[in-house]
Amino acid sequence: MMEDSIIQRLDRINAQLAEAARNSGRDPEDVRLLAVSKTKPIGDVNTAATAGQLDFGENYLQEAIEKIGATSALRWHYIGAIQSNKTGQIARNFDWVHTVCSLKVARRLADQRDPSRPLNMLLQINISGEESKAGLAPDELPQLLEQLDLPDHIRLRGLMAIPAPTDDKVSQRENFRSMRLLLEENRDRFSLESFDQLSMGMTRDFTVAIAEGATWIRIGTAIFGERN
Ligand SMILES: *Cc1c(COP(=O)(O)O)cnc(C)c1O
Repeated sequence: MMEDSIIQRLDRINAQLAEAARNSGRDPEDVRLLAVSKTKPIGDVNTAATAGQLDFGENYLQEAIEKIGATSALRWHYIGAIQSNKTGQIARNFDWVHTVCSLKVARRLADQRDPSRPLNMLLQINISGEESKAGLAPDELPQLLEQLDLPDHIRLRGLMAIPAPTDDKVSQRENFRSMRLLLEENRDRFSLESFDQLSMGMTRDFTVAIAEGATWIRIGTAIFGERN
């Protein structure tokens, strides 16, 4: 892909982000763009970075760690499935982790993170109730929050979801709204401070996600092009 086309695509997404936020009475500053660079070369990351993109999301650890080592001053988000024997690598290399689904993984990340560097954590919710998908069922969340006793260097910031793919705007909206309500209910019930982040919305559905309260949209294809 030509370098200028990544920059043009980024500009377009940022404009669409701002418009979707304003259309629903939100401040565009409250919605952040996570550029999902999985499978794409480091050159694409550098191109996006020169255009001011700061946050990058990766799903595959080895690939991510190479990119993290080859760049500086960027913020890296882990958005892939977490095997519990890989938590050390995640704890050492990332600034955010969006895909925590169990107490065990949360505790391992806490133990393995350097306490002088806070790690932002989101809990993944299986919002469409798909059998094959990772994530906590919505009704499992309160029990996990009751048992979760994290040290100060782990910042529990909110929830993440990958709803079942659909082009039906009504069901997209229902899923995202359920996420927002789940966040709000549990924040109030457990008096969680800074539990205010919703990572939801991808290339096909991010404007709907913003209308329902997304604070991180995770965009790959619309910035970097189709993945092989
Ligand atoms: C790949 C991926 C994305 C980006 O999806 P696009 O449809 O390419 O925007 C977002 N979130 C997660 C968790 C992903 O794995």
